[in-house]
Amino acid sequence: MKTYDPNNIFAKILRGDIPCDKVYEDDHVLAFKDKFPKRAVHVLIVPKKPYTDVRSFGEQGSDAELAAILRAVPKVAEIMGVKQDGFRLIANTDMHGGQEVPHLHFHLIGGEPVGPMVS
Ligand code: AMP
Repeated sequence: MKTYDPNNIFAKILRGDIPCDKVYEDDHVLAFKDKFPKRAVHVLIVPKKPYTDVRSFGEQGSDAELAAILRAVPKVAEIMGVKQDGFRLIANTDMHGGQEVPHLHFHLIGGEPVGPMVS
């Protein structure tokens, strides 16, 4: 498993070193708009603690952290106005998953039909 890189871009956002367009925050979670949105609504939901991806999060995250991420999903959907029509939640993981930023993030994408799951 990869070692967490504290210089990744989301770690910098969480430290407040660089800005983000915040959508939601609680004790365990920060959600902010993707800088290069793929659809009308594109938000990234991240744990505040340093987990590289969903593998280490699922293995080492506390029950409170795991619950907080899923509890944040409908809240973010409500805030962004996509709760009723639905959306897609994606966690790209490592090389085969096409993950670019090595801090766990869930993409919440919607606001219009998202399209085929895999092209
Ligand atoms: P992934 O390929 O799953 O690792 O997704 C990384 C996402 O981070 C991409 O959708 C990027 O557009 C997004 N991204 C990169 N830099 C920033 C940033 N500074 N603020 C918000 N989103 C970013």
